[in-house]
Amino acid sequence: MEGWKVAMSAVLLCTVPSFALSAQDYRAQALRILKTVPLIDGHNDIPDAIRERGGLDSVDFAVLQPKLMTDILKLRAGAVGGQFWAAYVPVTTMDSGPHPAVYALEQIDLIKRLCARYPRDLAMAYSAADVERNFTAGKISCLIGIEGGHAIENSLGTLRMFAALGVRYITLTHWRSLSWATASTDTARRGLSAFGREVVHEMNRLGVLVDLSHVNDGTMSDALHTAHAPVMFSHSSARALTHHARDVPDSILRLVPANGGIVMVNFNPGFVSEGVRVYEDSLEGRARALRASGTDSTALRDSLKAWHVRAPKARLQQVADHIDYLRRVVGVDHVGLGSDFDGITEVPVGLEDVSKFPDLIAELLKRGWTEQDVRKVAGTNVLRVLRDAERVAAAGNAKARRTDAQR
Ligand SMILES: [Zn+2]
Repeated sequence: MEGWKVAMSAVLLCTVPSFALSAQDYRAQALRILKTVPLIDGHNDIPDAIRERGGLDSVDFAVLQPKLMTDILKLRAGAVGGQFWAAYVPVTTMDSGPHPAVYALEQIDLIKRLCARYPRDLAMAYSAADVERNFTAGKISCLIGIEGGHAIENSLGTLRMFAALGVRYITLTHWRSLSWATASTDTARRGLSAFGREVVHEMNRLGVLVDLSHVNDGTMSDALHTAHAPVMFSHSSARALTHHARDVPDSILRLVPANGGIVMVNFNPGFVSEGVRVYEDSLEGRARALRASGTDSTALRDSLKAWHVRAPKARLQQVADHIDYLRRVVGVDHVGLGSDFDGITEVPVGLEDVSKFPDLIAELLKRGWTEQDVRKVAGTNVLRVLRDAERVAAAGNAKARRTDAQR
């Protein structure tokens, strides 16, 4: 063997194995960290996926569910410590079918029964302290968030009853605007109405987090200027990197630190990859053109399938790019994870389901993040936000009691 080849193989022998090992090391380090801090995800749509499959009896959550992004085995493999399960309420309930409030109640019921059915692994959590207690006991916390403010049906009494059931956040809108809050699909500047501001104040008084994912920029800004407690974006990414209306623009991000809130990064490919977003936009345009030209639905479906195969893919590293970007703009104390698993149909390569969270943490460690910063993004930030909201609620109630006593 020639001299340079010997030298070269020596270099390869030294570098290749150590590189392969280091990737494993980051994952091992991530798993070690997640034994000491509960990883809490801001948004998972498994309750609606279970409903669509016919309810709790149709899905055994304790065995591997290859068609779902979430089950107990995957949650355990992903070292998940707490999950906000979405009590998602379709906007179509505003037109027909069960009332939005009934739909929300049924989903809250489903979440509680899901949690009760697997007591070895899951436990309900209604406060930050509950999450920490469950984590120490080796259980995954189940937290409830309602997705869609139409669930309260313009009634503060209904809002109070949802809070009494243990709901810890309400996403003010879904895809359609309400009379009191404007959705991201609305380009008009309208934000919160006077009643919308009342809803925000009442949520603050109750310790229910105001979730600004899905609302438009006007509502985001109004809510941030109205709230007395930290707000959250339970599943939104950074618009500076991906120009999607569901993501948060810099002008809003800059308001978050003073509010003390949190932006929890969504993994939806169209929200984290500009290439995917542009492609998805163009697909919609092409589908519209075909429909307008009278193409029948089978031909349309086939065309969409063919286009879909050619679609660009988002990657785990792009989700990490959003987390890195948010850290730079809002600061590391205001960033979290809000996967949207089982609410999205496509996933980034490397982040296919809830078992992959440690890979994302490993990527941050590989980028030079400290263990302390990783712990914040994984869980301690959202625990602080929950605790701050609980403190605001307690202080407000104490003040109300004092005022009553003076009367
Ligand atoms: Zn959503």
